[in-house]
Amino acid sequence: MEISVKNYYQLSQIEIDKIKRDGKRPSLALHACCAPCSTFPLEFLTPIFDVTIIYSNSNIYPESEYERRINELRKYIDIFNNEHNQNVSLVELKYRNEEFNKYLEPYKDLEEGKERCFLCYSLRMDEAYRFANDNHFDYFTTVMTISRQKNSQKINEIGLALSNKYQTKYFASDFKKKKGIDRSVELRKEHNLYNQQYCGCKFSYEKYLKKIESKEEK
Ligand code: SF4
Repeated sequence: MEISVKNYYQLSQIEIDKIKRDGKRPSLALHACCAPCSTFPLEFLTPIFDVTIIYSNSNIYPESEYERRINELRKYIDIFNNEHNQNVSLVELKYRNEEFNKYLEPYKDLEEGKERCFLCYSLRMDEAYRFANDNHFDYFTTVMTISRQKNSQKINEIGLALSNKYQTKYFASDFKKKKGIDRSVELRKEHNLYNQQYCGCKFSYEKYLKKIESKEEK
């Protein structure tokens, strides 16, 4: 069976060229999960868009980790705005981890990168997208395509499917392409940003703890 793989990086360039031709500076709601993953996407997007970051990450467990990640992101946004003379702001949506865990629970034993993660991307993106739509943003996207561990094809498929129910346009992306991933690592090191040791949810946290325990036993 032929699997069709779309070049979402190319689609992002086509959209940017169109925006430049129109001579506009649209607003963009950017779903972001953490500071390191936001570094390169902010550099890429802010020359074109007025960016507002939407923190919709009820997957993160425990709450202390959730707080740590959002505080690191706040710190980075301040650095970014000062360095680039930008005005990126952050909107935090409600943290509903218990409810979120119930959605993911049926898939708890699956390995990372499978159905549990697809549902996780979808729930977070939908919540942030709804906010973007209700607040009349021109575009919505997510930083998650920067991650090597996350499936960019799937993330863009989810974004495009969600765009059918909202007025706000989906901005397709593949931030890891064209050395985006290298630049994000460089910026993370340059600003000494907190680099989390597990993806985020309760199930990835438990797996991480088991890994540490087995290392200690050796
Ligand atoms: S491993 Fe990461 S992407 Fe997958 S469900 Fe957990 S937090 Fe979500």
